[in-house]
Amino acid sequence: MFWDQESETLNRPALEAHQVKCLRDTVARVAARVPFYAGKLKEAGVGPEKIQAIQDVTRLPFTTGIDLRTIYPDGLLAVDAAETVRLHTSSGTTGKPKALFFSRRDVSNAAELIARSLVMTGITKADVFQNMMSYGLFTGGLVMHYGAEKVGCLVIPSGPGTSERQLMLMQDFGTTAVHILPSYALYFAAFLEQRGIKPGSLKVRKAFVGAEPHTEETRLRIEQALGLDVYNSYGLTEMNGPGVAFECEHKAGMHLWEDNFLMEVINPATGQPLPDGETGELVLTTLKREAMPILRYRTRDITSIIPEPCACGRTHRRIRRITGRSDDMLIIRGVNIFPQQIERVLMQCPQVGRNYLIIVEGLDDLTIQVELTPAGFDGTIENLNALKAQLMDKLKAEIWVRPAIELAAPGSLPVAEGKAKRVLDKRSL
Ligand code: AMP
Ligand code: ZN
Repeated sequence: MFWDQESETLNRPALEAHQVKCLRDTVARVAARVPFYAGKLKEAGVGPEKIQAIQDVTRLPFTTGIDLRTIYPDGLLAVDAAETVRLHTSSGTTGKPKALFFSRRDVSNAAELIARSLVMTGITKADVFQNMMSYGLFTGGLVMHYGAEKVGCLVIPSGPGTSERQLMLMQDFGTTAVHILPSYALYFAAFLEQRGIKPGSLKVRKAFVGAEPHTEETRLRIEQALGLDVYNSYGLTEMNGPGVAFECEHKAGMHLWEDNFLMEVINPATGQPLPDGETGELVLTTLKREAMPILRYRTRDITSIIPEPCACGRTHRRIRRITGRSDDMLIIRGVNIFPQQIERVLMQCPQVGRNYLIIVEGLDDLTIQVELTPAGFDGTIENLNALKAQLMDKLKAEIWVRPAIELAAPGSLPVAEGKAKRVLDKRSL
């Protein structure tokens, strides 16, 4: 099913011609209206006339998260303040947030991209869409909300309220699709199990999960525990929030909406572009953004481009599941480790529950606290020790470092409000 079949299946030459034109317009606009970019472009000796082909994007300067914090609050505005209608921010962990402004057209474009994304998984106006993401400055609430409304779904803006209330809404209003953090989906599945509610007794058939890294193993777990289809949804505040890239019905990588965003994958150490298929840092340039265009944004997210066409017929290329953020990488005894590698091993083990915490301290000592499922937590020391040894071996094989494992009772590890916090690096405290 298509929401906007013409745009979604545009042939590559037409799509690329559109990208070049939009890129040139964007460069012309920021050069004229945004002093921050005017300066950078001058320094790089590029103007709109130099943008003749897609590869010319590499002549443009990068924009980093630090840049966005430096020009906070409104240093990247390319329209008069009176033309802005919405503000979102991304909190991050330290210092000032990154602020993103939308014009009326930006709000409408963002909703269009969500509508495309949802419809491509089979959502129709008959669906009842429960948005369990936080409303407010975080984009996962409002941006997704307006997109689902655009499709014509009944949207329940439940936000991240208690599981009790989420369940009540699902039961009373016949929710068929949810938008949920993957860490919360695991938690919610455990909640249903505790309450003795069989997932099949609910009408929920689809879950859209995103906003935080998660593995294929976690997807399978959520699918099995809740008895539904899980689709990966990728986005970031700087690029509207959700609706940047989304899985179609084939669940084999996420179509990135290339008529709105120009994507590159670069070597994060050198900044050099990598060929399709190679893994590196995703860099995105807005092509249609009116209020706040952003050139070559260093997302820090690690992925690769799938160049092959998708069976669904969409021409917008897919990216692979995000395997981590370049700034999430832990260096332990000289070995580079991504938390996702650890999650993959843990989630393959049926006795492991929904939560874990990676702790690094002292001289690179790695400890992983692992919550068990009620069935896995059988209480015999022998079995628990065997499980511990098994996890240590499997982790050693994956990350080349043997961690200490601390097994924890179901529900005993701290649960974050909002995005899960999986790593506690005490070395940097
Ligand atoms: P925010 O700006 O708060 O929405 O956070 C955006 C960041 O969340 C991205 O840069 C990614 O690091 C992460 N993120 C969002 N969606 C996904 C996803 N589907 N898989 C992995 N990480 C994601
Ligand atoms: Zn597809």
